[in-house]
Amino acid sequence: MKILSIETSCDETSVAIVEDGRKILTNRIYSQIDIHKKYGGVVPEIASRNHITKLPYIIEDALEETKMRLEDVDAIGVTNGPGLIGALLVGLSEAKAIAYSLDKPLIGVHHIEGHIAANFLQYPELEPPFLTLVVSGGHSHLVLVEDYQTFKVLGRTIDDAAGEAFDKISRVLGFGYPGGPAIDCAAKKGNPEAIAFPRVFLDKKEYNFSFSGLKSSVLNYINSKKMKNEPIVVNDVAASFQIAVVEVLVKKTIACAKGIHMNKICMAGGVSCNSLLRQMMTDAAKEEGLSLYYPDPILCTDNAAMIGSMAYYNFINGAVSDLSLNGIPGLKIGTR
Ligand code: ATP
Ligand code: MG
Ligand code: FE
Repeated sequence: MKILSIETSCDETSVAIVEDGRKILTNRIYSQIDIHKKYGGVVPEIASRNHITKLPYIIEDALEETKMRLEDVDAIGVTNGPGLIGALLVGLSEAKAIAYSLDKPLIGVHHIEGHIAANFLQYPELEPPFLTLVVSGGHSHLVLVEDYQTFKVLGRTIDDAAGEAFDKISRVLGFGYPGGPAIDCAAKKGNPEAIAFPRVFLDKKEYNFSFSGLKSSVLNYINSKKMKNEPIVVNDVAASFQIAVVEVLVKKTIACAKGIHMNKICMAGGVSCNSLLRQMMTDAAKEEGLSLYYPDPILCTDNAAMIGSMAYYNFINGAVSDLSLNGIPGLKIGTR
């Protein structure tokens, strides 16, 4: 079964064709990063307008690359939340128009379930159940994937998401948007032990996260240095901040896996590109005898292939949408 999928929840306009949830035939991604960079973050209205102008061409590219016609696809998958409402509606309108005009099934996909499904593309043999650390621009969740349709949130951030913290600290350090890749790179040239930023574990028995205290601590450090007219070694700040985030993510994930007796762990979302997170999670999983899975970086950040994979599992489990499918900015995981 070949699904044409569309992702426009934020600032990537992406179209993919995925076969049986596991095989990428094409995954075209047009990132608007360069457009939003000068504003220091994503401007929702500009994102929507660029989705509108780019999306039809990206669909054409995807069809051309696979030598397929729209008639050859079996269903249309589309992200319907969470995300920026205007941006979501562009993808949804296009998906509905194609589904209606060709009389093909329309399948709504939860963006975060899509991030998790990126692992199915990377590892064709991977099956639930497993625990997933979802770390992206807007989410830091520990999700138990019981089966292809049952997602249980075991922990979440009570304030900022990990990616949000990376983006904010990057801005004050002058690295710009998006912050994650810039901090990852700067941290390689810095000393992670230079500054002892706090590791916030909250209640040890719970699996929630909090990154706003760490963010304030980094901001206070920078401001006090500035006030005293002392030099700031940005690479050291980046490295010390990054390890404080990563240590918490790794320890909580491992504690959660052990707490629920789960020996399979996946990572998903843009922050799972982080090189220190990959390295420290790999080491920790090895030490605890757990299997660890994470997708290639291109499948960690927003892309339509992950949406196509999840759409397939929704479809074969009967979760097909109709033309009343709406964009829901705060769509809860496990709902549609
Ligand atoms: P959400 O998926 O929660 O709706 P989003 O779609 O904006 O949010 P993603 O595309 O999954 O988020 O990921 C983008 C985030 O990943 C940004 O915050 C970015 O800074 C972060 N990121 C990307 N690469 C890295 C990296 N190497 N290290 C840390 N963070 C990274
Ligand atoms: Mg993005
Ligand atoms: Fe995302």
